[in-house]
Amino acid sequence: MEQIFVEKTASRGIAAAKVYKYQDPDLRPSLAGITAEQAESETERFLKARQQMIVRLQNMEDDSGILAAHIEVAKDRMLEEGVILRIREEQKNAELAVWETIDEIAGIFAGMDDPYMKEREADVRDIGKRIMAELKGVALPDLGEVSTEVIVAAADLYPSDTVKLNPKLIKGIITEKGGLTSHVSILAKSMNIPALIGVTDILSKLENGMMVCMDAEKGMIVIDPDDEVLSAFRVKQEAYLRERHRLEQLRSQPAVTRDGKRISLCANVGSVEDIENALEMNVDGVGLFRTEYLYMGSSHFPTEEEQFQVYARAARLCPKELTIRTLDIGGDKKLDYFPFDQEENPFLGWRAIRISLDMKEMFKEQLRAILRASAFGHVRIMFPLIISLEELREAREMVAVCQRELEQEGEAFDREIPVGMMMETPASVLMAEEFAAEADFFSIGTNDLTQYLLAVDRGNKRIANRFDYFHPAVLRAIRHIIAAGHKAGIQVGMCGEMAGDPRAVLLLLEMGLDEFSMSAGSVDYVREQILSYGGQKEGGETEEKKIEGNGDGKDCAS
Ligand code: PEP
Ligand code: MG
Repeated sequence: MEQIFVEKTASRGIAAAKVYKYQDPDLRPSLAGITAEQAESETERFLKARQQMIVRLQNMEDDSGILAAHIEVAKDRMLEEGVILRIREEQKNAELAVWETIDEIAGIFAGMDDPYMKEREADVRDIGKRIMAELKGVALPDLGEVSTEVIVAAADLYPSDTVKLNPKLIKGIITEKGGLTSHVSILAKSMNIPALIGVTDILSKLENGMMVCMDAEKGMIVIDPDDEVLSAFRVKQEAYLRERHRLEQLRSQPAVTRDGKRISLCANVGSVEDIENALEMNVDGVGLFRTEYLYMGSSHFPTEEEQFQVYARAARLCPKELTIRTLDIGGDKKLDYFPFDQEENPFLGWRAIRISLDMKEMFKEQLRAILRASAFGHVRIMFPLIISLEELREAREMVAVCQRELEQEGEAFDREIPVGMMMETPASVLMAEEFAAEADFFSIGTNDLTQYLLAVDRGNKRIANRFDYFHPAVLRAIRHIIAAGHKAGIQVGMCGEMAGDPRAVLLLLEMGLDEFSMSAGSVDYVREQILSYGGQKEGGETEEKKIEGNGDGKDCAS
């Protein structure tokens, strides 16, 4: 028995079944060159293989549109011309010519800034794999042939593989590669198949038919479990499925407490695709768009226009609310194309708003892109890691400068765009009243707030048990922020992990939190808590009193 912990959960759930190792045959080309006379027959071979592949795809059932899109890619002139050129001019055989051309086109997609376009690399490689299999005359493994319940383990699953996933038989997916916006992630999520991705070297640890348990709630895999672990998993799995079904029935209800308060229930996202997924959970909008993923997925600082395209798409998708946080790099988030100095304490170093205020031209490009996108929806701007009024004022002044520029250029934007701040530093807590007078909204970032208040590194596994947002100091800070925000009449939300923790919801509602923003997978659980809250105070001690009872009974900043 071996236990493995995994970081990337693409789709939640619990499963226990035998492993089906899904491995491609060796499709690498031989490096043999051809003579000029063979060029015509090699070209014919390529065209025939491509046609056979298209017919094969046409004969496969597919409601998702993935295969139709693949057929278009296969017919693309860039592919055809690239292969034929390599055969005729470079005298490469059909296999090598296809291999190199696919690699070149896939590389172009991989280098694109838009994370969605980046993931299209997989579609191109998928086509390449299928043409190679036709050329070599070998059969590809076929998930459609699975006839018993299994957990599929693969290096990666290509889009055309996932079309054949039968959720009744495929109980779980584990892959070594794949991103959270890849087809496999999106499909697994939409079919409710638990999926763990990016699990290094998992194939070398598994044999076909071996029993595996996966908990894609906690991010855990147990290989070859003993009987006790297995039956515990089965019980957990049953309970999980019943619970999911029950929660899904609540999804259509707006997040209103029993005593009638409408709570904003929002998603934390890192891309437009994340927004599309979150909208399926019936969220009210986006409470945190982590724009750093746009920067981290690029080979250069994304231009105003590149960012505008993404933010405008996002704004159109979220008519009620799209809160875009300005760049939050530094700390543990670095960029490949920009050197960061070695720092003794990166989380206390040059990060977030500090970088934006020091690199004003870059900051302006982002602000202008956000402002232009605000013409398409209810966009809000949010600054990370603010510690002083000077920072907030300087950042707001940058917004005003960009607004004046856009005005002169005749560009459309929302003149009343709300500008708020993350409450995630001890300084912001202790000065919450002053900040509330100058910010349009607050959003509490419990990840950093907990780390800074408790002096516990959020990424250090060794002290993870000390990272506790239920610590009285953190709870008092939260209560203080909410009270200060409300006194000034501004909305107070939360976008740290605590907002998605069902155990915290009633407590936060009791403190008056207006908005909960979390990853899409937590929305159903939090909605249920919100719907159950209210009208239960009589005779009972409120949560607020309980917190006070934890210490000296005084508010930390009053
Ligand atoms: C936080 O600190 O709570 C937060 C939401 O921001 P991030 O996790 O991106 O630092
Ligand atoms: Mg933070």
